[in-house]
Amino acid sequence: MSVVVKVEEKLFQNRYKVDSGRPHISIIDEDKCRNHCEAQACTVCCPAACWTAEANGQVTVISDGCLECGTCRIICDEHSNVAWEYPRGGYGILFKFG
Ligand code: SF4
Repeated sequence: MSVVVKVEEKLFQNRYKVDSGRPHISIIDEDKCRNHCEAQACTVCCPAACWTAEANGQVTVISDGCLECGTCRIICDEHSNVAWEYPRGGYGILFKFG
């Protein structure tokens, strides 16, 4: 018998220290997301749901809770529109179970 564990339950195990006013991920050119990126893949591939497709076509990112997997950076390769760096030391994700 297999045990089903929801992603949300696993994410709840992590802790995240916010570096206020210094998000480690940002969008370089918002117009590219809104008017030149049909897929907006970042809004569906992020395991932490940091990216949102807004009703007006804009994409927003809130990096609090980011798992530092780098998926958004790779998936945006077509437009290279993600400015991404690791959080400063002492900030960001703390994986409780490795
Ligand atoms: Fe989401 Fe991973 Fe990008 Fe963080 S690095 S915002 S977890 S896709």
